[in-house]
Amino acid sequence: MKPNIDEPDIAQPNVVEPTNILVNTANYFFKCEKYKVRDEMIEWCKKEAIKAGFTMVIVKSDNGSYRRKKTLVLGCSRGGAYKEPNRKLKKEDTATRKLNCPFRLRGYFLASEEWRLSVVCGEHNHKLAKNLEGHTLAGRLKPEEKECVQELSKNLVAPKNILSTLRGRNPDIKTSMKQIYNVRQRLKKDARGQMSELQQLMKLCENNKYFHKCRTIGDSTTIQDIFWAHPESVKLLNTFPTVLVMDSTYKTNKYKMPLFEIVGVTSTEVSYNVGFAYIANEKEDNFTWALETCQSLLNSKDTMPKVIVTDRDQALMNAVAKVFPNSTALLCRLHVFKNVKAKFKNLCTAKGEKMNQLLNTLTFQWKSIIQSTSEDSYIDAVLEFRKAFDHYPDFLKYVETTVLDPVKEKIVSLWIDRVMHIGNTTTNRVESQHGSLKEYLPDCKGDLPEYQLIS
Ligand SMILES: [Zn+2]
Repeated sequence: MKPNIDEPDIAQPNVVEPTNILVNTANYFFKCEKYKVRDEMIEWCKKEAIKAGFTMVIVKSDNGSYRRKKTLVLGCSRGGAYKEPNRKLKKEDTATRKLNCPFRLRGYFLASEEWRLSVVCGEHNHKLAKNLEGHTLAGRLKPEEKECVQELSKNLVAPKNILSTLRGRNPDIKTSMKQIYNVRQRLKKDARGQMSELQQLMKLCENNKYFHKCRTIGDSTTIQDIFWAHPESVKLLNTFPTVLVMDSTYKTNKYKMPLFEIVGVTSTEVSYNVGFAYIANEKEDNFTWALETCQSLLNSKDTMPKVIVTDRDQALMNAVAKVFPNSTALLCRLHVFKNVKAKFKNLCTAKGEKMNQLLNTLTFQWKSIIQSTSEDSYIDAVLEFRKAFDHYPDFLKYVETTVLDPVKEKIVSLWIDRVMHIGNTTTNRVESQHGSLKEYLPDCKGDLPEYQLIS
């Protein structure tokens, strides 16, 4: 993982190719009234320019002196010759943007202490944009708008709601979602200063007295896995270690690292977060490291979890068996049934109403298997199941050899009710925690912005 990430680049709408097209926009500026305040006139001109489909820049501004008159020259953002920028050129950068566009307006400060506008050249040598949304200059946020983005971001407002707030204040705003993301990105970068994102995470863990631990790959400084836990979580874990539910969630970060989350249950059946880990991949070794780190938070060997619920991920199951050999490992019933159902749909050729009927039978029969509370009722339920699906031998074979034989003791009431699982037979708890966690990660919901990794 390389924390060395550059700012995401703003996509430039490819509006213009250099041509000798002439578009006259003079008529937009003829009706300019006389302004007492220079900036008000500029503001008006900028608005007119947006209506016309281009962006206005101040080419020259002279505040005057006792001899010189105050003057002002406004131009099109495509005026001027293209200059090599200081920063490294990126793909599809602004190389073609300056086109020596001749458009010019001039402002004069009159003896009557008013500004007057005259059109020096109304023509452009390029096509004009139909929709300026997303155009860098037109959409550039004003300082007070940036402040607003900062405030709202601090309060965990999602980017799309930030944009609608800005639109509510100023209906003419031309800012795009991409620019909101970019501003947020910049603000985060400013907060980090010279530090990389990972260093920032470590610093925040340190400042807030979180338990945190990371490991690197071999002798390198590249971080592989990180684990962190709130100090209160550590106390809760030691008080309520009976049941732990664990699962990974995705799309929380641009490195595409899974976020592994461990959730505990209090005596009043309230979920609490034990800890989180970003793991490089979902291999047994990574899970083992995360679970060992979690185990190290427990004060004594007597406070080991009694029950651990996971989904049917073999690597995670192996790690649980290794790190917590005395805990009873249960499997999420919902995940198991989901797999059974998917397998059936895959093997069965029935369609429409017939399929629905079969799926209802499957749900009913499956329930009676996993809810069996005695040896006898279990055997009866399996026989019933075989009878109901005797036309699908491959399916029966799958259910018996890959589901019931190896994991029945992790899902069927008869076995799992021998341990105190406090009703936790699914990983639902951790999944709803993922949901509330993602509320705090508004950039991660749905449209995750595209980041470019620049090595
Ligand atoms: Zn122009």
